[in-house]
Amino acid sequence: MSDVIVLGGGLAGLSAAAALGGAGHSVKILEARPFLGGRATSYEIGAESIDNCQHVLLRCCVNLLDFYKRLGVEDKITFHHEYTFIEPGGKRSVLRAGVLPAPAHFFGSFLGLSFLSLREKLAVGRAMQAIPSECATRGDLDGITMRQWLEEKKQPVRAIERFWRQVLVSAVNEELDRMAASHGLQVFREGFLEGANSHEMGVPAVPLGDLYCNDAWRHIGKVEIRLRTAVSRMVIEDGAVRGVIANGAKLEADHYICALPFERVAGVAPELGLDLSAFEHSPITGIHLWFDRPVTDLPHATLLDRTIQWMFNKGEGRYVQLVVSASRSLVEMPRAEVISLALKELAEFFPAVPNAKLEKAHVVKEVRATFSARPGLESLRPVSRTSVRNLFLAGDWTRSGWPATMEGAVRSGYLAAEAVTGAAGTPQKFLRGGDSRAFAS
Ligand SMILES: Cc1cc2nc3c(=O)[nH]c(=O)nc-3n(C[C@H](O)[C@H](O)[C@H](O)COP(=O)(O)OP(=O)(O)OC[C@H]3O[C@@H](n4cnc5c(N)ncnc54)[C@H](O)[C@@H]3O)c2cc1C
Repeated sequence: MSDVIVLGGGLAGLSAAAALGGAGHSVKILEARPFLGGRATSYEIGAESIDNCQHVLLRCCVNLLDFYKRLGVEDKITFHHEYTFIEPGGKRSVLRAGVLPAPAHFFGSFLGLSFLSLREKLAVGRAMQAIPSECATRGDLDGITMRQWLEEKKQPVRAIERFWRQVLVSAVNEELDRMAASHGLQVFREGFLEGANSHEMGVPAVPLGDLYCNDAWRHIGKVEIRLRTAVSRMVIEDGAVRGVIANGAKLEADHYICALPFERVAGVAPELGLDLSAFEHSPITGIHLWFDRPVTDLPHATLLDRTIQWMFNKGEGRYVQLVVSASRSLVEMPRAEVISLALKELAEFFPAVPNAKLEKAHVVKEVRATFSARPGLESLRPVSRTSVRNLFLAGDWTRSGWPATMEGAVRSGYLAAEAVTGAAGTPQKFLRGGDSRAFAS
């Protein structure tokens, strides 16, 4: 069994540690901040613990669910079976699976959506039918944008805006004309077409940070967590890592997993010579609003034709969290303006808003939320193996087979953990629902 140091206590590092610890290896996680979870975490403001931003998953995120199971927190995720779309003015449509088997399970409720015409629905249906075969046979989907693919499929403008864009900008955190078609199509293939329940949306019922701060680590095996431990650099000599410098001390292990965000890697390991110049960030803005009375009875809804894309009811309809993905238009906007825009838009969907008093508001602009899933980037995402023999990479930006998501981060952690077990001479498989070999070299 081997000693492993994991740099970074985000989901990539935590999942690698959980897999290796569970397999009998001895793992140290070095995390710079005073809490775990990285971007998928929560923190205190005043008396409240709030999520960095609402994080949701789909039932098809099988590796993330496996990681939650390892921690014994899978029952802290509540799954929702319906998606509510609301038009300005308040008209609601619900998408839910019916009795037909996949991929026809949405047939009835899709036909009933009021925000698309019959012609638009037929066009969406035709494009949807093409997805499985195009994903299997076309080699150019990483080279074109999702918008190019939709135009190729002759999608009407309103279907693009109200259906495709509405789903994909939130799922991939990028605009249709900046997003590789491969990522957009994967969302529909895995989340909507492959299984009758794969679209079900999981929402943590506890603050995100609570998912990782529990007794489970004690039962997983030898996993030691060191918070407030920032790694300043790795000592790399003769093609191997000889140790890491953290808080002025040198720590050594047999194997190392670097699970840092891409913009941090060159700083700690310049010897790796990774060219990450093609990687850019895409922002997400979360707007937390607390009212003096309930403004909605829905658990969540997606809001059409406006800046705000999603509303999540975080507490009796009085505390709502609004999410804007690929939120470049809000990054420079003063916080007071963001809040007044949010209130104005929210009132168009929920008639109780104008009569409610806003008691408190909080805006979180995550400028470095995820990498931008641009065409051409996929082949530049590094795999877990590196040119340094005992160093492996993880992180949502590495080649996980998924876009930058919690599932992508956990997949990368499991792939790095598999690579460590291979290097230690005790190969093991942790990745679920995918062929690890596809991402190994
Ligand atoms: C606002 C927002 C909303 C999102 N919504 C969703 C969603 O709904 N669903 C979804 O699936 N995904 C969502 N994501 C994406 C998801 O959060 C990320 O893809 C995932 O959490 C990335 O995990 P990671 O471990 O790769 O990186 P990180 O979470 O960034 O972890 C890296 C860790 O390394 C630590 N670190 C950095 N430097 C050092 C150092 N020198 N030494 C030691 N430690 C260091 C950091 O503190 C951090 O904890 C969202 C992201 C954001 C920002």
